[in-house]
Amino acid sequence: MISSQEQIHPNHFAEPLLSWYDASKREMPWRDCGDPYRIWVSEIMLQQTRVDQATPYFHRFLGHFPTLEALATANRHEVLMAWEGLGYYSRARNLHDAAKTVLSKHGGVFPQTYHEIRALKGIGPYTAAAVASIAFGLPHAVMDGNVIRVLSRYFGIQEDVSLPATKAQIQQLADGLLDTARPGDFNQAVMELGATVCTPKSPLCAGCPLSTGCVAYKTGKTAELPFKAPKKKIPHHQIVVGICVDDEDRILIALRPEDKMLGGLWEFPGGKVEAGESRKEALIRELKEELGVEVMPGLRLCEVKHAYTHFKITLNAWICRIKTGEPEPRPKASKKLRWITSSELTEYPFPKANRKVTEALQTWLENRRKA
Ligand code: SF4
Repeated sequence: MISSQEQIHPNHFAEPLLSWYDASKREMPWRDCGDPYRIWVSEIMLQQTRVDQATPYFHRFLGHFPTLEALATANRHEVLMAWEGLGYYSRARNLHDAAKTVLSKHGGVFPQTYHEIRALKGIGPYTAAAVASIAFGLPHAVMDGNVIRVLSRYFGIQEDVSLPATKAQIQQLADGLLDTARPGDFNQAVMELGATVCTPKSPLCAGCPLSTGCVAYKTGKTAELPFKAPKKKIPHHQIVVGICVDDEDRILIALRPEDKMLGGLWEFPGGKVEAGESRKEALIRELKEELGVEVMPGLRLCEVKHAYTHFKITLNAWICRIKTGEPEPRPKASKKLRWITSSELTEYPFPKANRKVTEALQTWLENRRKA
């Protein structure tokens, strides 16, 4: 590490940064509102999503739940429907649970200390520092990908920034630089600089308020920093799902258990193709395991590719019939099963990959009706 907070006078960092922020900050619907509920929702949405992507969802979510009380008293299904499309659904479930906690434990008033905020479900050190500083002016420095990029370049940090020890050093630097008179603006300014000027590729150093003190800029290392050791290859799974259709054209959907990934969302039953299996063999096996019935795969409806954080999938969906004489399907791996009509598909929250399947299914059913 090249420098430390003792060697950089905070005013040489915070002052030009805040002047730049005051003149250049982007408008955002949650910015400068002072409302902890809106700030909290926006911070949760922005954890995995860019500002331009999150903004329409923010408006939609706030349209459904304009206050913390409205969110706390909504049912899970409504919350997941309002979140649908944003992905990482544990964020929505935690937001909902935390809103209930605020209502029951804090009388509906958002807690105003860092530790009480941090204790809410789904709130880690980053979100607690962001809400505490932006909504309540508390002196807590945030550290996210933007902050890591700006500070690792500014200080010329050569160590792998994905290591906990390097992150701890960067957090210390951020704490030392924080402008305690304007902590919320300082935090937003570093993140804004990272998002708009100190970008991952081709940073706009000539227009950067920190260029005079920036080690990476002065030593021509902006393309090399922040340093991250190469990642392992992301696994790629082949997934098969069956769309069981009955004689009345109703479709079978399954509710994922709350404690599993994508918990609380609905899906078509199915699973992973094992080594040595054909996709159809995997489909028949998975549906037998999940529903306790044997199915006959018919038309292959569609193929969907989707990337999650730690793996990728290619999902193939088949229209299926349950074999004559089989018992009623039972929810062996899911929380519950439901037969629904095609027009009801939009009333259930599905993960993104399954939503693409429902769209292909609706087009197929439409064409079949017209034929
Ligand atoms: S001078 Fe360039 S590398 Fe340094 S902080 Fe500014 S934009 Fe980032």
